[in-house]
Amino acid sequence: MPLKKIKVIAFDADDTLWVNETFFRKAEEEFCILLQEYMSKEEANKLLFDVEMQNLPLYGYGIKPFTLSLIEAAILVSNGNMKIDLVQKLIDKGKEMLQEPVELIDGIDETLHELSKKYRLVMATKGDLLDQERKLIKSGLENYFHHTEIVSDKTEKQYKKLVKHLDIKENEFLMVGNSLKSDVLPVLNIGAHAFHIPFHTTWVHEEVEDKIDHPNFRSFEKASELLQIL
Ligand SMILES: [Mg+2]
Repeated sequence: MPLKKIKVIAFDADDTLWVNETFFRKAEEEFCILLQEYMSKEEANKLLFDVEMQNLPLYGYGIKPFTLSLIEAAILVSNGNMKIDLVQKLIDKGKEMLQEPVELIDGIDETLHELSKKYRLVMATKGDLLDQERKLIKSGLENYFHHTEIVSDKTEKQYKKLVKHLDIKENEFLMVGNSLKSDVLPVLNIGAHAFHIPFHTTWVHEEVEDKIDHPNFRSFEKASELLQIL
């Protein structure tokens, strides 16, 4: 059984340990409502996504880049005609998102508690360092993790670096996460194991079309199911 070799389990954070994507969906919805006098909801939402994609290489992931993209998209949607109080509303929205309470994903606390007795656990996430640290502390999960890796993007190169840093072999590493694009595909490509636990909402940018069929891959509905095989 290849799973017997696993020494380190890395957990993605957003939408794997705690709820995240829901806040972005809500903010996009509010953005479209604020600007509906200029553009239909669908068009405004599409434009916001395009702005985010353009900004991604420069800004990276997280709420602060998202806030800047909200403002930039609002300028485009309103053709430069929006009032300054609307800019203030978008800034306030970003600040509000940075202070949301942390809502744990069902069963994650017990699952980490049990797994931490048998494995070295790490948190591996992309995004904003300050914000991810804030959420980790608020979550109460901090003590389960040996350490945390906050990377700018989850690529094969970054995973290889992580495995090397952990001083283990690729097949001794297991990644658990909600994104096939970030938490599964690059991990399988370097010869490590990857488990997928989907969240009900996925950002379009993280969507993958193909079905994954790989000996090192499994999919689960709930975190607690991990305890049946690990
Ligand atoms: Mg995630």
